[in-house]
Amino acid sequence: MLSSLFSLDNKTALVTGGNTGIGFGIARGLAEAGARVAISGRDRKKNAEALAALGAVREGCVARVFDLADTAGIEAFYEKVSREMSGLDILVNNAGITVRGKTEELTLGDWEGVMRVNLTAPFVLSQCYARERIGNKTGGSIVLIGSLMCEATRPTVAAYTASKGGIRQLVKQLATDWAPHGIRVNGVGPGYIRTDMTAPLVENEEFNGWVLKRTPLGRWGVPEDLAPAAVFLASEAAAFITGQMLYVDGGWLATF
Ligand code: NAP
Repeated sequence: MLSSLFSLDNKTALVTGGNTGIGFGIARGLAEAGARVAISGRDRKKNAEALAALGAVREGCVARVFDLADTAGIEAFYEKVSREMSGLDILVNNAGITVRGKTEELTLGDWEGVMRVNLTAPFVLSQCYARERIGNKTGGSIVLIGSLMCEATRPTVAAYTASKGGIRQLVKQLATDWAPHGIRVNGVGPGYIRTDMTAPLVENEEFNGWVLKRTPLGRWGVPEDLAPAAVFLASEAAAFITGQMLYVDGGWLATF
């Protein structure tokens, strides 16, 4: 049955930044497809609220507090969550931050902070996942969350754009290196999506108008728009797909 290819029954997943926004939308989608999901974030309260909502969909989900800026601690964090979930079949590197402002005034600290959370942490976490899956000879699926900024940019987001350009190439590199081990690596690239990250943009009348006009489907996306793409790429339905970006952007990249 074609529909069974999309099922994630008996699978486990880790979604970083799964306590709100796009990450939560994806975590809920994975749970609805049958997976037990671990989510992570820095904020205990957001974790608890998200876990309560996930628990209504699928039993056996967990939420863990971890700051991905602590890159030296990622290996121990990964091992703990993997042990708790009896192994992780799917890894979704979703957590991300941005700093907006004049590029000539961006501090080194801001630059390094964005690169650390958006690019270094997904790399290190993917290494942990791959080492485990290669050791177990189990194959697997990694999804990295990119952005329109994997392909294009706009003023004031230099560090973010550099980090997401890196994600685009990282998807290709990890897919190439780990294909022999049966680990597929793909990216999902959201367009403009209503979340905490974009709240200042939604509230900005001029920017909001630009997004509505610039996006062919004529609306902001919502986190639920991203879940089907992530479920698809994580599932057996995408068994011959690796190294790709799937843009969920209302047509933004198709036009100028
Ligand atoms: P969001 O609503 O701000 O959520 C960000 C998530 O990441 C939260 O769960 C947050 O949890 C977690 N997080 C942030 N910094 C972290 C850190 N240092 N350690 C651990 N967790 C951290 O953002 P979003 O809009 O859903 O964005 C999610 C992803 O989609 C990001 O990679 C973003 O770049 C990408 N994206 C978003 C859009 C959009 O329009 N919204 C467009 C393109 C791409 P805590 O606060 O609890 O740590």
